[in-house]
Amino acid sequence: MTKKAMIIILAVLLAIAVFLGMLILVDKVIMAPRRSSPDTPAEATATAAPDESATPEGGETVTPTPEPEPTQSLALAGLIIGIDPGHQGKANTDKEPCAPWGKDKNPSYNNETMKTKTSSGTAGKFTNMPEYIVTLQISLKMKAKLEALGATVVMTREDHNVNLSNIDRAQIGNDANCDVVLRIHCNGADNPSTSGIEAWIRGTGDGTAEYKALGDYERLLAEEMLTYLVNATNAVRRRVNSSDSYTGLNWSTAPSIIIECGFMSNEEEDNKLATDSYQELIAQGFADWLVNSTVLKRQ
Ligand SMILES: [Zn+2]
Repeated sequence: MTKKAMIIILAVLLAIAVFLGMLILVDKVIMAPRRSSPDTPAEATATAAPDESATPEGGETVTPTPEPEPTQSLALAGLIIGIDPGHQGKANTDKEPCAPWGKDKNPSYNNETMKTKTSSGTAGKFTNMPEYIVTLQISLKMKAKLEALGATVVMTREDHNVNLSNIDRAQIGNDANCDVVLRIHCNGADNPSTSGIEAWIRGTGDGTAEYKALGDYERLLAEEMLTYLVNATNAVRRRVNSSDSYTGLNWSTAPSIIIECGFMSNEEEDNKLATDSYQELIAQGFADWLVNSTVLKRQ
């Protein structure tokens, strides 16, 4: 190869390099803004109307991306959750029928068995906190969390100055067509070392298949709920018990669970139950359960 030929080849290579360099420059400076422009209308459209596919100017079809944040934060949208903060400022010692069914249906508990409308509840052996204050504090924290997740929350009371019998409380949950009613209580025991969270559901009731099915469903819900409450609080897991002696459960047509959030007769648990931080953990346990439940049926 002659020197002249080599110079020509080098010159051609140089020309190609310069040409490629200019192409890259043109692409970066001039093409870039045009290429990124479809992203902006697509995002804006997705926020405004997530269900419609966006067609930005230029005719390109852009598949809208799902909105992870709002969807996640509304995990409980459509659910109606009843919360009954146990007891009230002043007990009502008048009597009301414990159950709607007659003696023929259930010989032990029937509408001739009368029970106190609203008992005074227990109180902290160490903190002296009345149960009705702690139950409302926990319930209001639950309300805030569940509403933030999109649930409709129906409270039986948000005040201590009410006069609601257990039948009244059940009726509020029934009228609101609640998916589930959570009745918040605290426990007491003679043994000061007894601690933990337990639940109560309806018993045999009027003996019908429908009543039994409701009780079976409540048991599934309550067992699953206890798992989340215990995970959130590290409290002792106690049993899911059933009974025919709770007026509020007997009169409830909605799935209904009494939750005894802890023992006010246990020094450690009494002190914890009176704190905002522990009440938050309990409320978070309920929220975690409702968001992750594989048992809860949506109406
Ligand atoms: Zn109670």
